[in-house]
Amino acid sequence: MWRDNDDKIMDILDNIENVNKGYFPVVCPICGKKEGHLYFHRNMEGDERGSMWAWCSACYHFSHAIYRLPKWWQNLKEINLKKLTSYPNYLEENKVCIDQWINEILFSNLTSRE
Ligand SMILES: [Zn+2]
Repeated sequence: MWRDNDDKIMDILDNIENVNKGYFPVVCPICGKKEGHLYFHRNMEGDERGSMWAWCSACYHFSHAIYRLPKWWQNLKEINLKKLTSYPNYLEENKVCIDQWINEILFSNLTSRE
């Protein structure tokens, strides 16, 4: 069901610090529904590398990549590393707490910087 054939889904990532900050779920750049999500996972504490997923719950487009994570990112404790795969099935199940988390962490990061 997941489709990784459209790089436009990466607009979710590109826009996290401006139009999308604090507003997850965001408008999907492909289908236009407000079902876009984003999650990062840092491999180890202090490591700048990790993984990135951007996906849409409506049209099932997604992207998964190894990514150099933003400094402010912290993993969501509820997410079990062992259940993460390249497909966002597990993330989709947890999207409500993921959206809350990214909104909170992004908002506090951006306000503390101003
Ligand atoms: Zn979509």
